[in-house]
Amino acid sequence: MSVQTSFLEELLDTDQISYGDSERKERSTDWGTDEADGVMPDVVVWPESTADVAAVVTAANEHEVPVTPYAAGTSFEGNAVPVDNGISLDVSRMDAVLEVRPDDLQVDVQPGILGDDVNETVAEDDLMLPSLPASGSIATIGGMIANDSSGTKTVKYGEVADWVLELEVVLPTGDVVTVGSKAAKTSAGYNLKNLIIGSEGTLGVVTRATFKLTPRPEQIHGGRAMFEDIDAATAAIAEVIQSGIDVAKIELIDAFSARVSNEYLDTSHPDVPMVFVEFHADHSISREVERCRTAFEDHGVRSFDVSEAGPEMDELWEARSKLGKAFEPYDPDLSSLAAGDITVPISRYPEIIDFAKTLSNEHDIPVATFGHAGDGNVHYHIMIDPDDPASVATGETIAERLVERTIELGGTSTGEHGVGTGKREYLTNEYNPATLETMQSIKQTLDPNGILNPGKIFVDET
Ligand SMILES: Cc1cc2nc3c(=O)[nH]c(=O)nc-3n(C[C@H](O)[C@H](O)[C@H](O)COP(=O)(O)OP(=O)(O)OC[C@H]3O[C@@H](n4cnc5c(N)ncnc54)[C@H](O)[C@@H]3O)c2cc1C
Repeated sequence: MSVQTSFLEELLDTDQISYGDSERKERSTDWGTDEADGVMPDVVVWPESTADVAAVVTAANEHEVPVTPYAAGTSFEGNAVPVDNGISLDVSRMDAVLEVRPDDLQVDVQPGILGDDVNETVAEDDLMLPSLPASGSIATIGGMIANDSSGTKTVKYGEVADWVLELEVVLPTGDVVTVGSKAAKTSAGYNLKNLIIGSEGTLGVVTRATFKLTPRPEQIHGGRAMFEDIDAATAAIAEVIQSGIDVAKIELIDAFSARVSNEYLDTSHPDVPMVFVEFHADHSISREVERCRTAFEDHGVRSFDVSEAGPEMDELWEARSKLGKAFEPYDPDLSSLAAGDITVPISRYPEIIDFAKTLSNEHDIPVATFGHAGDGNVHYHIMIDPDDPASVATGETIAERLVERTIELGGTSTGEHGVGTGKREYLTNEYNPATLETMQSIKQTLDPNGILNPGKIFVDET
């Protein structure tokens, strides 16, 4: 037991505290950070109520012990990985649906519940929380709020943040506040709800969230379009969005990603650029499908098959939904440098994909591009030889140039994965010094001792 954290014994039951190696090790990594990069917390605690969270944070603040909120650890940028030992505050036991209010189209949940579990509950009232990340089955609501996540359906329904009405939050001092409102809109005072969203657990621990919900669509159709080349696919995607065609999902998989997916799933999709689309409507769905077909035909689509939701469509979408895990096993000599996430305005989408392909050809390093194309979002995997320092250095250069170009095009260094430790350097490109100083002064005001998830977002915080 660490002397520094012995105060925990007075606050929590013994089964809520672990100094065990395996529990601490598990919380020193995420999907993008390996053990070599992460720091082990001294102790893991599992609060079971808002009172538990407030007690731990209050005491940690008094003793100036770092606290890193942790949920499911599916982040890519080290967001939930400590940089400074201390306490890993694992909220996964706070996973209840507190109340569904179908008449208000609302649900109250605890932060540790998985996104899909919320949807399973509210489906009983024919409602849904539409904007979950593709990781909805493995990631928590608290993690999504903290990372300002979005997903495949953001193109129609907005981000997770757009569905948050009210949050209960434990501040770094241990004070409990409620931000936002259960009313559909509010203009009462500063919008502190939006300050907490995307703060990556650096400004407060979310202990309860109220979401608005929407009725499930009566019709869901989806399908896949195949293109001769990547330029035609990206131009077609941009045209669909610019024409206001009502797609609920529109995702790109480039030819390299299609090959990787085929290897992983033992499927035989043609390895050409593919665009996966879904439509949601209560009526006139065929009109939107035909408008989309016309836009795709303008760009020489090879084929575009659409069907109603069901097993056939689910199988097709597997190529996209399982892609995240497919890159590591693809080639034993290659490893993904990082799971990249950038976003540009839609008119620049073809240009940034083309830039990624140019960098790949110039340096002879495979770069896969796919993602939530309708938002101008690009996920990329730069495949390097980890045993070859030159290959690693070239991969890092490609990553840097890609993010820098994104920012030059009016885009952002992270569309949805957050900053964590992995993207901190890019914030100085994206924002001017006064903007960053404003962000840091907010952190300083709310967390004068710098105990909550230190070392994240800002370069000079470590
Ligand atoms: C296969 C795969 C697909 C993915 N697809 C998407 C996608 O489509 N879109 C997308 O946006 N992301 C995606 N992600 C990234 C990731 O799943 C999301 O960022 C997710 O929201 C993280 O949730 P988590 O529960 O794993 O949080 P963690 O990774 O455990 O934590 C994330 C951050 O939230 C903080 N935190 C956790 N709980 C709380 C709380 N209660 N209060 C305050 N802070 C808290 C942590 O300190 C950390 O900074 C994907 C990841 C994987 C592995």
